[in-house]
Amino acid sequence: MSRSEEYFARARNVTPGGVHSPVRALRAVGGTALFMESASGATIRDVDGNGYIDYCMSFGPLIHGHSDPEIIEAVHAAIDRGTSLGTAEQYSLELAELITDSIAWVDSIRFVNSGTEAVMTAIRLARAATGRVKILKFDGCYHGHTDSMLIRAGSGLAGPGQADSAGVPAGIAADTLVAKLDDLHGLEQLFDRHGDEIAAAIIEPLPANYGLLPQTGAFLQMLADQLQRHDALLIFDEVITGFRLAFGGFAEISGMHPDLVTYGKVIGGGFPVGALGGRRELMDLLAPDGPVYQAGTLSANPVAMVAGLVALRKLHDGSAYRELDERASHLANALADLDDLLVQQRGSLFWMGLGQADTPDGIVRSPEAIPESAVKRYSAFFQHMLGNGIYLPPSPFEVGFLSTAHTDQHLDELAVAVRQFPAIQ
Ligand SMILES: *Cc1c(COP(=O)(O)O)cnc(C)c1O
Repeated sequence: MSRSEEYFARARNVTPGGVHSPVRALRAVGGTALFMESASGATIRDVDGNGYIDYCMSFGPLIHGHSDPEIIEAVHAAIDRGTSLGTAEQYSLELAELITDSIAWVDSIRFVNSGTEAVMTAIRLARAATGRVKILKFDGCYHGHTDSMLIRAGSGLAGPGQADSAGVPAGIAADTLVAKLDDLHGLEQLFDRHGDEIAAAIIEPLPANYGLLPQTGAFLQMLADQLQRHDALLIFDEVITGFRLAFGGFAEISGMHPDLVTYGKVIGGGFPVGALGGRRELMDLLAPDGPVYQAGTLSANPVAMVAGLVALRKLHDGSAYRELDERASHLANALADLDDLLVQQRGSLFWMGLGQADTPDGIVRSPEAIPESAVKRYSAFFQHMLGNGIYLPPSPFEVGFLSTAHTDQHLDELAVAVRQFPAIQ
């Protein structure tokens, strides 16, 4: 028995499924949880002494790689001055100024501890601002684990959803409308029917939690236009894409500016941070100025704030994005000739699926368009890559992440291992 297996057996006695977040159990790839011990740059090492090139990167926060020396140094210094203050302090001020000075559609920002919390607050705020109840979300987008977002499409036409988790009351599910990605006609019908009940639509403008599902400009523009016509708000969930595709996330690249935006992952430099930002008159509705309550004992924790501050300062001049884009295209090119492998990549996000896209332009834009083989064959692919020293995201639906610590050599090793997968050759 490996040490990982030994620890996992113990963990199952004291923790549901042996893990503190489900995907870590590695069930989706036919394995058991890997206990990792340390990580540095682009590599991660397990408790049995095996090293891997890491393409999961903590599911997105680590754009500068593991244990970035500048972040570590700043964190050490901050810890020496106190780990939690429960007062106002200046790291969060500097981080808020850096973001609001750089991102035109964020006048004001509130820091929380996770992406889930940011989404919860965005929804409450949108309901308060509009006096309406219904929230529109899209099948295939993930917005954290708050009740109203654990909803999938109901049967039949786009409209009220069904709970996607036990314990979510039907009454809450009924207030979440669910539409399909990449379906302009369905979206139009939904707005015809429900437009005036909608407080806000929330969307990952580049959906990256169900593979990578780039949306067309026409689809996103129709959503924005319909919302405007019906006096409802647009919430971009940029928990993955914010500060990753560009400093201003997808909104910067597309020129579409949301009313509210949620951040997480990269914004915390590897520590637990989420944030909600947007137009001043909306943000001013939050307590203590306004009537919408929101609070957090450890919100804007100074250690997490300084990590985020250093991480974002290193991204601010944009050179890291050019570097990452180049490296990601290097990877996509290295795999482009493989007929049996679908690679979808945007900036430093990538998704690999075994099989071919059965769509007119060869791009998968909705969950329904993901080839069945990409899901069925992923376990074998993941285990093959793991055996070759490469740690991919442990689910066929999670995207891979590049960091500035990944070199062309790391990417070449990935490409070589992919080509050695028997079914691909
Ligand atoms: C990860 C994620 C969340 C949830 O963030 P947590 O910090 O895990 O709570 C919300 N939205 C999107 C788009 C995410 O990728």
